[in-house]
Amino acid sequence: MAAKAGGDTIFGKIIRGEIPCEFLHQDDKCVAFKDIEPQAPVHFLVVPKKPISRLSKAEDSDAELLGHLMIVGKKVAEQLGLMKGYRLILNEGPEGGQSVYHVHLHVCGGRQMNWPPG
Ligand code: 5GP
Repeated sequence: MAAKAGGDTIFGKIIRGEIPCEFLHQDDKCVAFKDIEPQAPVHFLVVPKKPISRLSKAEDSDAELLGHLMIVGKKVAEQLGLMKGYRLILNEGPEGGQSVYHVHLHVCGGRQMNWPPG
């Protein structure tokens, strides 16, 4: 049997519609939705439908898909009025602070972002 689209993390359930979620964007390759625990006035996630567990497991053939996440992130950021800037974050693995093992891009904005990050 073919693997279910979206894998079996919480994001897989969201992608498959098993958990109700209001999408900010969806297309054939990815979805975007608000983070449940926002770290900024605007905080959303862009998640590929392909269940790549973490960036380090991505393959060369995923390059276009990963680039697509950034383009969708910037379009949704514009739609949400983040005209003064925002930050993209991709947490990789335990020391990168990744908690959901389905690769995703965070987009945070609506306040001054600080550097260095925690
Ligand atoms: P990570 O730590 O893996 O980079 O980010 C996972 C993110 O997913 C966290 O910011 C967390 O708040 C968010 N998250 C976890 N579970 C859910 C959920 O069920 N719904 C939504 N919208 N976000 C979630």
